[in-house]
Formats: sequence, structure tokens, C-alpha cells
Amino acid sequence: MTQMPSQLAQFLYLIAASCFILSLKGLSSPKTARLGNILGASGMAIALVVSLLSSRSYECAIIAIALGGVAGLLVAKRIKMTALPQLVAAFHSLVGIAAVLISWVTLRSPQLLNASSVQMRVEIGIEALIGAITFTGSILAFCKLQGLGKKLFIPNPNIVNATLSVICVLVLLVFSLSGVDFLFWILVPLSLALGVCLVLPIGGSDMPVVVSLLNSYSGWATAATGFTLGNYLLIITGALVGSSGAILSYIMCKNMNRSIFKVVFGQTAGQAGTLQGLSSIKNEKSAKIGTPEDAAFMLANASSVIIVPGYGMAVAQAQMSVFEIAELLRAREVKVRYAIHPVAGRMPGHMNVLLAEAKVPYEDVFELDDINGDFSLTDVTLVVGANDITNPAAYNDPQSPIFGMPILRVENSHTVLFVKRSLGTGYAGVDNELFYRENTMMVIGDARKVCEDIAKELK
Ligand code: NDP
Repeated sequence: MTQMPSQLAQFLYLIAASCFILSLKGLSSPKTARLGNILGASGMAIALVVSLLSSRSYECAIIAIALGGVAGLLVAKRIKMTALPQLVAAFHSLVGIAAVLISWVTLRSPQLLNASSVQMRVEIGIEALIGAITFTGSILAFCKLQGLGKKLFIPNPNIVNATLSVICVLVLLVFSLSGVDFLFWILVPLSLALGVCLVLPIGGSDMPVVVSLLNSYSGWATAATGFTLGNYLLIITGALVGSSGAILSYIMCKNMNRSIFKVVFGQTAGQAGTLQGLSSIKNEKSAKIGTPEDAAFMLANASSVIIVPGYGMAVAQAQMSVFEIAELLRAREVKVRYAIHPVAGRMPGHMNVLLAEAKVPYEDVFELDDINGDFSLTDVTLVVGANDITNPAAYNDPQSPIFGMPILRVENSHTVLFVKRSLGTGYAGVDNELFYRENTMMVIGDARKVCEDIAKELK
């Protein structure tokens, strides 16, 4: 087969890049997200075909695409939606290691890409640095989200991370200017260590920001690869992923009242120190436990209800039953709305996707800032499998790992119904004193079963 002419390839790359840009635009609203996805996939298909037709050797590329495609298909079919953040982190690690390997190959083949020029060495160094940070940072994030391994701490993480960052930049500079290839093998392990040190101190409610930051790093690593390979599409795609990940991280930090600078440099909120204090609350007070029938009675007699979905709704796949409850209440002229916290579930937009799947109208779904003031005017708040995002420790316990994170102020409503399987903690491992408040009733059980029972009772 003859190679595709370079000008035609560049033109098609431009079309693919336009598809990616339009895809991001589409993904910015739930209404157009499906179209955005189709555009993104189309752009990727064009990019793949053009890359294949422009390459000198097809065999290796076809084998790689076949292997990668089959692996991707198997993983995508098997993975549970609640484990998507881990999967995303694992995929980012592949982008990171690919960047490191390409930078190594480029360095070994100077005749291919003029790897001896200072400019090329800067590009190779940056590619290796970001790629290595992304690789180990993503693997660590995967382990943390998957609950693997022991909790490790580094003393004075700010100082360690700042020092390591400065050393990496210095080594990168000397590597670029001196022409000594050996320094590459100092830069890579240092950058791998930096990836670990940056993610190690972060945990609890800051993990979503870390996943989004790693997404951004993987984009910059791709862009750097594009520079070394002279591939414009990689540069554009990498820059799109890098900047959109950075913007998302910034928005999440703003929503969670965190400083992006502190998260980037691995400074996390206070460690979990509240458990003991709240355990004593647990001992002093007892929670009010009700049945699905009690919950149905309260909901049916309310004039306004807010539903707060969380991770447990995703685990139980209870979104259809939740929607059914809402529709049954609407039929009784109860005003029903949904409130979504920016980090509810285990990935950004997790709850929006599930509610969209259940065909909940977009106009009934409200963001934290838009609905928080309305809880005090609401008769019943139904919290389905959510915990941290409602926990008042976020504003009344400075030692708590979630301190400073804005929460949905469900406790301000007249009655709060929590649907969950126990009085246990959520992702951040912090007890929730709301379970023991006067105006709270716990309905214990799997969210799907409980919601189905409530719906049955309402019928
Ligand atoms: P939480 O993890 O705080 O609470 C979820 C609750 O759901 C648990 O307390 C659990 O209680 C309950 N649950 C689990 N399974 C079921 C089930 N089958 N039926 C009923 N209940 C169930 O989730 P939230 O959504 O409130 O908060 C999200 C947390 O995850 C935050 O801390 C956030 O920072 C973090 N996070 C978010 C990410 C994101 O991007 N959105 C990514 C990574 C982390 P019980 O065991 O008693 O049933």
C-alpha cells in the first residue's frame, strides 16, 4: 500500500482536531453530550485511519490496534460504573508510560528526529518528566481508589515535593543544555518518585481533583510527545485534554473550597481525627430507624421534596426506582427536585449520568449553589446512598478530612430520610452526626430494594 500524501494527512488531522473541539463543546451539556461523544469517537476514528495510512510499516500498528482494541473492549464491558475513576487513572498511567518510552526511543535515534538539538532535548526532557509523573501518580491514584495497599505518609510533603520538583527541573535543564544522555536516566527515576510523592499525601475528598489533575498531566504528556514526533494532531489533542483537565481541576477545587496550588503540591486537608469525637456522639445518642412504609408516608404527606443521590445509589443501581418515587409524588402534586453535589459518587458528573439514564428531566436537577438555600423551605429531603456530601463536619470540625468542602445542607429541611445499609461512614471515613439528629430518620437497606418498597407503598 502506498503512503498517504502528507498534505492530505494534515488536512484530515485538522478535521479530526475540529471534531475533538466540537466534542468538548457537546460534552459541556447533558443535552448535547451524546452528540459530543459521537463527534469525539469520529475524530478518533479519522485520526487512527490517517495515522495508519501515513505510516511506513502497517504490521506493527495493526497488531497494536487489534491488541489494544480487544483489551479496551473487554475492560469496558466488564468494568462497573462505580469503578470508572480507577479505570480512568489506570488509562492515564498508560499515556504516561507511553510518553516516557517515546522520549527514550527518540533519544536513542537522534538521526530520526534530530534529537541532538537543544530544542529537541528540551522536548524529550519535558515529555519524560510529565510522562513519568503521570505514570506513577496514576498508578498510586488507582491503588488508592481501589483501596489497595497500606496507607503511607511522607513527612513534610510540601518541602519534599517542592525540593524534588526543583531538582527535576534543574536536571532537565542540564540534560537539555549539556547533551549528556546519561542525565535522562537520572531525570526519569526522579520524576517517577515525584509522581508518587505528589499523590501520596492526598486522599479523602480531594481524590476527584487528583484524578482530574492526572487527566490534565496525561494531556500535556501527549502534547509533548506530539512535539517530539512533529505530529500536530497529538499537540492539539494533548493541549485540549491538558487544558480541559486543568480547568476542570480548578472548577472542582473552587466548588470544594480547596486551593488548587495545595492539591497540585500534595497538601491535603486535615487527617481523619474526628472519628473518636463522633463515636462518642454515637454512644450518647441513637439513630431513629424507620421502614420504607414510614418513609412513603412522610413523602406522600410532604408538599416539597428534594432528592439527594450519592455513591450508594450508583452501587445499588437505584436510579430507576428513585425516578419512580419522584413521578409518583408528582402525581400527588408534591414538588420534587434533585440536588447534585459536585463530587457526589466517584467521578465528576457521576450522578448526572445516572439520573439522565433514568430519564430525569434536566430542568429538575439542581447544582449545589442553586438549591442549597431551598432546603430550609423543604418538607422532606430523601438522601439515597449519600454521606460525605451531607456531613456537617465539613463546616464544624476543622480536624476533619472534609473540612472546608461545601455540603448540601440537607439538615435544614424539616425531615431528612437517609437510605443506606448501615450507620457506617462514606468515602472519607468520617462519621456523620446527622444520622443521630432529631429530624433524621434512617431507612436501612440496599438503596434499590428500599426505593422499590417506597414506590410500591406510594402506589
Ligand atoms: P459516600 O462515599 O460519602 O457515601 C456513600 C454511602 O452510600 C456510604 O456511606 C454507604 O453506606 C452507602 N451505600 C453504599 N452502597 C449502598 C447500597 N447498595 N445501598 C445503599 N447505600 C449504600 O458518597 P457521597 O456520594 O456522599 O460522596 C462522595 C465521596 O466520594 C466524597 O467523599 C468524594 O470526595 C469522594 N470521591 C468522589 C469522586 C468524584 O469525582 N465524584 C471521586 C473519588 C472520590 P452503607 O455502607 O452504610 O450502605
